[in-house]
Amino acid sequence: MAHAVTPSTAPNSGPTPVAYEQALAKYEPVLGLETHIELGTASKMFCSCPTAFGAEPNTQVCPVCLALPGSLPVVNRKAVEGAIRLGLALNCSIAPWGRFARKNYFYPDMPKNYQISQYDEPICVDGHLDVTVDTPEGPRVFRVDIERVHMEEDTGKTSHVGGATGRIHGADYSIVDYNRAGIPLLEIVTKPITGTGELAPLVARAYAAELRDLVRSLGISDVRMEEGSMRCDVNVSINERGADEWGTRSETKNVNSLRSVERAVRSEIERQAGVLEDGQKVVQETRHFQENTGRSISGRSKEEAQDYRYFPDPDLVPVAPSEEWIEELRATLPELPAAKRARVRAEWNLTDTELRDLVNADAIDLVEATVAAGAPSAEARKLWLNELSRRATEQEVELASLPITPGQVARIIALVAEGTLTNKLARQVVEGVLAGEGEPDAVVEARGLKVVSDDGALGAAVDEAITANPDVAEKVRGGKVAAAGALVGAVMKATRGQADAGRARELILERLGAK
Ligand code: ADP
Ligand code: MG
Ligand code: ZN
Repeated sequence: MAHAVTPSTAPNSGPTPVAYEQALAKYEPVLGLETHIELGTASKMFCSCPTAFGAEPNTQVCPVCLALPGSLPVVNRKAVEGAIRLGLALNCSIAPWGRFARKNYFYPDMPKNYQISQYDEPICVDGHLDVTVDTPEGPRVFRVDIERVHMEEDTGKTSHVGGATGRIHGADYSIVDYNRAGIPLLEIVTKPITGTGELAPLVARAYAAELRDLVRSLGISDVRMEEGSMRCDVNVSINERGADEWGTRSETKNVNSLRSVERAVRSEIERQAGVLEDGQKVVQETRHFQENTGRSISGRSKEEAQDYRYFPDPDLVPVAPSEEWIEELRATLPELPAAKRARVRAEWNLTDTELRDLVNADAIDLVEATVAAGAPSAEARKLWLNELSRRATEQEVELASLPITPGQVARIIALVAEGTLTNKLARQVVEGVLAGEGEPDAVVEARGLKVVSDDGALGAAVDEAITANPDVAEKVRGGKVAAAGALVGAVMKATRGQADAGRARELILERLGAK
């Protein structure tokens, strides 16, 4: 029973992968991304069950999402709105009429034994999204064509218990939670992405990041890859450079971070090159990305569409958005990320590198809100990108999740500008706010952090420093002004760094007649 089994990769390892540069010298990659976005609607796609994350298993269910006999689905209008708004933001055409389809297959996480999806009548078609990739020669823009955006419902969540890997093989039993069954999903499918060459992994990553930011700006999902509200399937094929036809693609599932999207593409190119160099053929299959190894293992061989026996769902009326409704929704589109980047770049006078740092740190909105609260953009950028980014990394949270508001950051910047705080003291105020000690002014008060610049308190510290260092004082009196630095140091030490160093120096020189 309890014999130790080391999970082996041997049956799955296949021919030795070819090193990336070498693979790219001979082969040209083609990509396709299928991204699922969980919509943040209050209720499910076809029933009124709540969608909140983290509830007790099987408490957010009803006859419709459990597919009990006689129950009938009704489309969630908010979900359709979200789909249309995303389609418009992706420059798609919105279909004037379309039906839901049943995608039939058996799996225990899907009580109906079919998933309601859209097949040949998706709600949005033929769009595009421009993505920017940094190259040594500067930023390069790739246009990713969007094939379609369609609506569907999520499945429940199965957990396989008792095995070493959490996968069904080797598990003692499995349990299923239907809370997620029926949560609205959008699937965004790209057309094949060609012509990226060695930049393929970066283009895939940039696309996922851009799509995430776009969806977030629309406010239709929280798009958290680590929580599964955005999931990418990455299709990759390679063909010999100059070949007339694309190669056979594999589809890597479970790719749940931007970094993994990049790694999945890269490792799949290396693996497929190894297969071809070994004289074998790439098989069309799904693969599973392994976070720990950065490689994927083979899943099932891929079904063809006909295996799903798609047919129009007779329980649902067609979705037929009117022109007026579409135009109403178009009017609700916010400033989209690309336009926002161009605007702040001009407004804040940024270089390519400065803009890239802001984008990579996901800090544009935070800096913008800090500027709106009265801070100069340069100071706001500095605080978010240095001190606050460092703390976010330390605590392994996103910048926006730090417990400090742009208003508080702006106040700290103002306290520095008016001379109440030095930069060093400002860092302590940041620390205090993050530790929950209250507003910046309260932290300054409670921690006694004000710069000591009034001549009374500072004068006393200066006098003490002179008395304690008579030989240094003598040198300064004798004209060696540079020696005053040691006395300033003593004052800073005595005031625990809170003295206004410039004013302290003035007072020292004045007292010693060296001015
Ligand atoms: P499926 O339902 O089988 O996953 P889809 O049409 O939903 O098929 O998605 C396939 C994805 O793979 C699309 O993004 C498509 O652009 C992409 N794709 C198609 N052919 C290739 C290929 N030869 N190499 C890489 N990607 C491809
Ligand atoms: Mg698919
Ligand atoms: Zn329900």
